[in-house]
Amino acid sequence: MSNSNPKIVKSTENSKLKKKIFCNRCGIDTVHLVLSRVSFTYIGKDEPTFWSDYCVIQCNNDCHAITFMETHNHSDNLSGYDPDEGDVTIGEDEYIYYPERIILNKEIMESRTIPKVMKEIYYETISLVSKKMFRFAALGLRVIIEEFSKDKGAKTRDLSKKIKELRKLEIINDSDKNILFELKKFGDGAAHRNEVQQESILNLSLKIIEGLLFKFYVVDEKRTLFEEQKNALLKTTKK
Ligand SMILES: [Zn+2]
Repeated sequence: MSNSNPKIVKSTENSKLKKKIFCNRCGIDTVHLVLSRVSFTYIGKDEPTFWSDYCVIQCNNDCHAITFMETHNHSDNLSGYDPDEGDVTIGEDEYIYYPERIILNKEIMESRTIPKVMKEIYYETISLVSKKMFRFAALGLRVIIEEFSKDKGAKTRDLSKKIKELRKLEIINDSDKNILFELKKFGDGAAHRNEVQQESILNLSLKIIEGLLFKFYVVDEKRTLFEEQKNALLKTTKK
């Protein structure tokens, strides 16, 4: 970043943020109010101009949760000038939130059959991605697979063998086996070769993990619930 003295603008406002952001408490994207803002502009002579925005924002739903939001961008990210909009960015602003946004799958967290330890690792791995700790997040994926394999009855020590064992026991199919190996590789790469995965890849990996947890735990719970409700309904109609 440029060393030039920044131009600083402080403001107290009550405007609404242009885009909705995820509220940890509401569990959905909500409108947020900007309570106060400090903007820095660093203008360098032969360097790109940097902007940093620091805002205290508040969820506009009933929860009123407060978040501190940082936004950063620089002039290399600009494509041009629009008379109405001003500078038009082509590159995404970088957003950092305190506390970080943790978008958990509600059905997984409320599941009665997914072991507690797996939910904890799932939570921690999502939190690590939010904190941009990508190597440790990749390890988190590996630990989830390890716990999943143990819970589904794999007895061998080595994780590769555990996955193959699950396939042999016909608990998982070939497609599950292949994806578990793919995700395991990220953890291996982080632990042994200092490999860093892209945030988008880790987020997609977590979506796949969610899908697997859904398939191997949540669907059975829904099925049981379905049977219970169907039987209860039959009883009342027989009376
Ligand atoms: Zn909220």
